[in-house]
Amino acid sequence: MDFMLSLVVPMYNEEENIDYFYSKITNVMKEYKYNYEVICINDGSKDKTLLKLINLAEQDSRIKIVDLSRNFGKEVAMTAGLRSSNGDAVIPIDADLQDPPELIPILIEKWQEGYDVVYATRQKREGETLIKKTTAHLFYRFIKKITKIDIPEDTGDFRLMSRQVVDALNQLPEHHRFMKGLFSWVGFKQTSIYYQREPRFAGKTSFNYWKLWNFAIEGITSFSFVPLQIAMYLGFIISSLSLIYAGYLVVETLIAGNSVPGYPSIMVAVLFFGGVQLITLGIIGEYIGRIYNETKRRPLYIVREAINFNSETESELMKVVNSK
Ligand code: UDP
Ligand code: MG
Repeated sequence: MDFMLSLVVPMYNEEENIDYFYSKITNVMKEYKYNYEVICINDGSKDKTLLKLINLAEQDSRIKIVDLSRNFGKEVAMTAGLRSSNGDAVIPIDADLQDPPELIPILIEKWQEGYDVVYATRQKREGETLIKKTTAHLFYRFIKKITKIDIPEDTGDFRLMSRQVVDALNQLPEHHRFMKGLFSWVGFKQTSIYYQREPRFAGKTSFNYWKLWNFAIEGITSFSFVPLQIAMYLGFIISSLSLIYAGYLVVETLIAGNSVPGYPSIMVAVLFFGGVQLITLGIIGEYIGRIYNETKRRPLYIVREAINFNSETESELMKVVNSK
């Protein structure tokens, strides 16, 4: 084959999965005789992930390691991987084998038909709770409603992207990286294939509901002003309603006299408006916080070590630590 394939694998505490992942990937790659590199990003793992990776990288120069200085989160780890990839086609893939490597040849086939992005859409989620499935479903629906970009539902990060798409992604400097949104935002000719998502091979998912909630907020605030607008409309609606109510109170007092002290209505109004104001401030705060983070212009991630890369890519990766 006359093209080069880059697999980008973010890894956080994946020591139990690495060997199996490596053998599976190698089998598929061998079978189809692809030219390839596997870029493993060690995202500050606390177990033996890095050690295992280094062992593999010593035997197999196609295994490349980007060792981040701490845990930066999957989205940033993936960004680091995309920026260090050289392939004509790039595929982000999870280390826990939830994204079946057997699909890679199918993705590549589609790519060669002329698509720039081929995403793998999961048809069935196994080994995941009903709550997770439902919330994920609702989230995709919601974000589709309130943003202009079309994020394909039930699609993870597992997809194939052409060099052009990856180069476009690498141009995006923002810190708040909702990758699923960014992938769609860059556009290009996209299509999808379908598969069934397997349960994790080993280890535990590192995404709890709090992380997922934050992930959802990230997605929404990165791509939509609707929450800010909701705050405004809520304010309008409530002000109008309270004006009407005030009018009614005046009329009532004129006709019936002030028989009741009015304590309940005041309490209700005060608490209600207090709540509305806090919500509104909170929403604005979410956006301001993001503006604040973006203005700091910190590097997205810090690379401690880069292994098996050519010297140019390596120095590019290590720029932050070597600049002084
Ligand atoms: N991951 C990472 N950094 C993190 C969390 C996860 O690089 O802070 C990696 C993890 O090693 C795996 C992928 O991201 O390869 C997906 O993680 P996980 O399986 O925990 O997520 P889920 O499949 O439950 O969405
Ligand atoms: Mg997983």
